[in-house]
Amino acid sequence: MIINYLVDLFFPQSCFACSKTLHDNEIEICTECRHHLPLTNYHFRKEEPINQLFFGRLEFKAATALFFFQKNGRVQKLLHQLKYKNQESLGTTLGTWLGLEMKSSMLFDTVDLVVPVPSHKKRMKKRGYNQVLSFAQAIANVLEVPCNNLVLIKTKNTKSQVFQTKEQRWKSVVNSFKINTNEFIYNKHILIVDDLITTGSTIEACAKVLIDAEVKNLSLATIAITSSMFR
Ligand SMILES: [Zn+2]
Repeated sequence: MIINYLVDLFFPQSCFACSKTLHDNEIEICTECRHHLPLTNYHFRKEEPINQLFFGRLEFKAATALFFFQKNGRVQKLLHQLKYKNQESLGTTLGTWLGLEMKSSMLFDTVDLVVPVPSHKKRMKKRGYNQVLSFAQAIANVLEVPCNNLVLIKTKNTKSQVFQTKEQRWKSVVNSFKINTNEFIYNKHILIVDDLITTGSTIEACAKVLIDAEVKNLSLATIAITSSMFR
């Protein structure tokens, strides 16, 4: 206890979203950020816009994102911490946050299994972890269902897609995933979990192989979604 106190005194924890020093009662994200982060609240809407984004390509039983992504904003900072700074506990905090809301909305009640979008093994080796896993695991814990990160495999190490057009992205990710085993997914309601949706190409590529493996339903949960898509 004393040691924790001294560590906090000399190395105060700072907010993952705004970098301000956290108060004793705050965990990872400060109170102000918790109030100002741009929540989508899509899990409380029966007809949410994510299904419209995928219209004609895919249909999710339920779909949501915790936040709207804002360039240079707090959400980008959170994703950066998770992706590059080895802050896996932040994934747990965000997954628990969204999981509790998904549970109270009851739209995700029939989910059988949580499947995180996988990283390629080369990228895993470099980074040491899949940044989506702790987020996915926390949602699964709240929904009281298993999380399986061995069902889907990324077979191609696709380049960063930030500056690609929708068509370029689709070409690079289609056929980059495969099913390792369909033992756990056949005729099941699968919740796909990812960190950020921009064009939806990655999700569509994952969904394609899951549908081919004859899952019953697909749902989707992500940390963030680019809001510009809906304006
Ligand atoms: Zn903050």
